[in-house]
Amino acid sequence: MNNLAEKDLKYIWHPCSQMKDYETLPPIVIDRGEGIYLYDINGKKYYDVISSWWCNLLGHCNPHITSALKKQSGKLEHVIFANFTHEQAIRLCERLTKLLPEGLCKFNFTDNGSSAIEASMKVSFQYHQQTGSPQKTKFMALTEAYHGETIGALSAGDCDLYTKLYKPILMDIVRVQGPDCFRCPYGKTRENCSCECFEHAEKAFAAHGEETAAILVEPLLQGSAGMKIYPPLYLKKLRILCDKYNVHLIADEIATGFGRTGKMFAFDHAGVSPDIMCLSKGLTGGYMPMAIFVTTQKIYDAFYDDYNTGKGFMHSHTYSGNPLACSCANAVLDILEDGTVLEKAQENALYFNKIIKEKFLSHPNVGEVRHIGLINAIELVEDKQSKKAFDGNLRIGYQIYKKALTEGVILRPLGNVIYFNPPLIIDKNDMDYVVDTAFECLNKVLPY
Ligand SMILES: *Cc1c(COP(=O)(O)O)cnc(C)c1O
Repeated sequence: MNNLAEKDLKYIWHPCSQMKDYETLPPIVIDRGEGIYLYDINGKKYYDVISSWWCNLLGHCNPHITSALKKQSGKLEHVIFANFTHEQAIRLCERLTKLLPEGLCKFNFTDNGSSAIEASMKVSFQYHQQTGSPQKTKFMALTEAYHGETIGALSAGDCDLYTKLYKPILMDIVRVQGPDCFRCPYGKTRENCSCECFEHAEKAFAAHGEETAAILVEPLLQGSAGMKIYPPLYLKKLRILCDKYNVHLIADEIATGFGRTGKMFAFDHAGVSPDIMCLSKGLTGGYMPMAIFVTTQKIYDAFYDDYNTGKGFMHSHTYSGNPLACSCANAVLDILEDGTVLEKAQENALYFNKIIKEKFLSHPNVGEVRHIGLINAIELVEDKQSKKAFDGNLRIGYQIYKKALTEGVILRPLGNVIYFNPPLIIDKNDMDYVVDTAFECLNKVLPY
């Protein structure tokens, strides 16, 4: 182990880690980044095909974003965002309004995704308190959801790995059995179904709709659940059901926003609008921590009154609307706005999926290859016919991760799901390399 890695372990408690694992897999000290590559202090190159936890959108040290950030840091690094404002934030919201699903036009800034989720839950609750539905105190969310790590966001989530232990201190959430297209209980496929599984949402609304303020969903892609993908029809149906019961539809587009699913936002596939949308990760291209919830004029208006009515949204974060982060987000939009990057990414996405299928599908332990945009997931199973899952204690994904790291490919599987979620700018040569490498590593761990 090198000196820096040793010192790291002396001082640092890394996120989402059993630190004992670092005894055999010490932290990799990264020196610099360029495009989809990261380089460690020994000059070894890594392919960052998980976009550094899904946030790097347009490559590391993208010259345009870097220069925008440099420029802004010499002008204004931060300013209190209550009563004060600045051009970067204003420009960003004006531009986003044109790209977002119709009706989303009022922006509230936080500094991470979990906080945006929490703020959106609070705003939904308060809206109903102030519009004659004080009984609406509950929230709904789907099985296997992930919405972040702070207590409210964690409550909405349902991945045992993160939530189970904390149950006694979490909020009570109405859990809706969500879509499971790989193991569809109705024997349908994503292409031929009518979202029969939506009956669970209907039942939950019939039982709890009157007392529910909002339902949170990760549209089309349940990322942390293992890149589970479901059809847009589900969102269309949910929109109708939410309207019927006066329940807010909160879209958690933190992972899916900014072209990850092939369109600017996942909700664009469904052609309907949520009442509140949460954005982060790709928002700043992965440069600065920032998140936003954006909502409708209708919700905003329910808070707009004389101060002493107590109807204002008294929620704040020190770094709300940080100008450095806003300058990065504007630079991202400079690149995305004319659509050519997304178009190229969509073209490449077809190629990426094709070569992954060609490589992986015939392996006896590959249950499914699924994709949306450039995101591709390979679900490993013990038995292909029965789709029996591997025992989690075998840590199959983790073993493949370690092998791939030595080959310079960052995979970081979710349980038994290997996935790629690369920056939108990945090219075909790099796709070829990472797919070949991932397949070799799979074969080392699960030979056939
Ligand atoms: C990452 C993520 C969050 C949480 O965002 P943080 O910035 O990590 O707090 C919430 N929801 C989804 C879908 C995410 O992918």
